[in-house]
Amino acid sequence: MKDSLVVYNTVNRNKEKFEPLNSPFVGMYVCGPTVYSDVHLGNCRTFVSFDLIFRYLLHLGYKVRYVRNITDAGHLEGDRDEGDDKFSKKARLEQVEPMEIVQKYTLGFHEVLSLFNTLPPSIEPTATGHISEQIEMIQEIIDNGFAYVVNGSVYFDVEKYSKENNYTLLTNRNLDDMLNNTRELGGQDEKRGRLDFALWIKAKAEHIMRWPSPWGVGFPGWHIECSAMSNKYLGSQFDIHGGGMDLAATHHTNEIAQSQACNHTNPAKYWMHTNMLTVNSVRMSKSAGNGFLPHELFTGKHPLLKKGYTPMSIRFFMLQAHYRSTLDFSNDALDAAEKGFKRLMNAMVLLKKLNPSDKQSDINIKELEERCYAAMNDDFNSPVLIAELFEGVRIINGAYDEKVFLNSEQINQLKSLMEQFVYDVLGLKDDTLNKDEDFEKVMEIVIQLRNEAKENRDYVSSDKIRDSLQKIGIQLKDNKSTTLWLKN
Ligand SMILES: [Zn+2]
Repeated sequence: MKDSLVVYNTVNRNKEKFEPLNSPFVGMYVCGPTVYSDVHLGNCRTFVSFDLIFRYLLHLGYKVRYVRNITDAGHLEGDRDEGDDKFSKKARLEQVEPMEIVQKYTLGFHEVLSLFNTLPPSIEPTATGHISEQIEMIQEIIDNGFAYVVNGSVYFDVEKYSKENNYTLLTNRNLDDMLNNTRELGGQDEKRGRLDFALWIKAKAEHIMRWPSPWGVGFPGWHIECSAMSNKYLGSQFDIHGGGMDLAATHHTNEIAQSQACNHTNPAKYWMHTNMLTVNSVRMSKSAGNGFLPHELFTGKHPLLKKGYTPMSIRFFMLQAHYRSTLDFSNDALDAAEKGFKRLMNAMVLLKKLNPSDKQSDINIKELEERCYAAMNDDFNSPVLIAELFEGVRIINGAYDEKVFLNSEQINQLKSLMEQFVYDVLGLKDDTLNKDEDFEKVMEIVIQLRNEAKENRDYVSSDKIRDSLQKIGIQLKDNKSTTLWLKN
């Protein structure tokens, strides 16, 4: 199964066979959040997508070192070294220390991602914890002739770099067009070329987050942290580098330039990018006023939302789109996903209760399993995988209703297939039920009373119990041997 995985590589704009540099080890670096405000949904989608990728690689048996950083310094408001430092600005607004901002939003970020059931990365390094590594890398870039020092700041020389390297490897943009379309911004009077970017920025007197360096007191530029930390934990060349596609044009482009200038190599073999979110077909953004935060989606407290959804139904909703496609939020699409997710979870409950049949059927579970692998091996195609798993749901429902016949081997194959793909690979879990032990016991008593009433031909009572449960969203599901309760 491992041999047939193909992944889309932004560098070559093509799907390529996945061949790790040092199999079975896989190094994967994903650009993490800048922790100065609540994590937004676009970021959550990126991290859920890479969680799917991480989980599937683990499922295939790879030993994955997954590094996802926390940006807690050096990120200015603009992409191109202009504007205020995001942490200092927020700290001023909230009248706290910048590190209090970092702590608050790091905790919030972890909380949201754990609600989405993402696995923690193997290493989660912070920019402030790796200042010396960044300084070392900058020094090496200067020594190699690709950066220059001006008045306590250090800039990367894009023009010089471009003479020997392809600076726009990821975007295929024309360098002259980029030059003509680039506004003059931050530190421009110090930069030699308009596309040059800061590796180290001299701290103004009021700048709180500051460190000593060979070039004076300052702080690192945003792009150098990922180069320094990926190099430290994954080596100068590793397998996968990922992030949102909005990072490709500047942040990742500059990361490649830094690594080439320092280590003479593109840091990653496969560059993978996740697509954007839209709301009712309009790109989600703060300025359009159509962006919701994760907890607004959970509670439904947002003018564009009819109601709230559980984190798992949102995870399921995200996985119903391929990570390279845009994902459109609308009340209808969320409702449909919620229904589909419940159907899947209910089938997982029924699956545990299936009894082997004496009758034969020609249902081929192995073939279904092969189709599931084929979907994921095709660049982690989760929507196709989900469609295949619903074929499994149809078989489970049919078997529970005793219309489809499975022997014990087929049941075991189906269990293993569904559990592996639903829980391990897609990372879904049932958060629709109140899995409270006392509640389970109460439901057992209610079902027993209802079945006794039925046996005594007291259909008024048995129907009353069934209908009353139905009204509060609990459905009783009978077959010849047993009764189960499921949430609608
Ligand atoms: Zn990064």
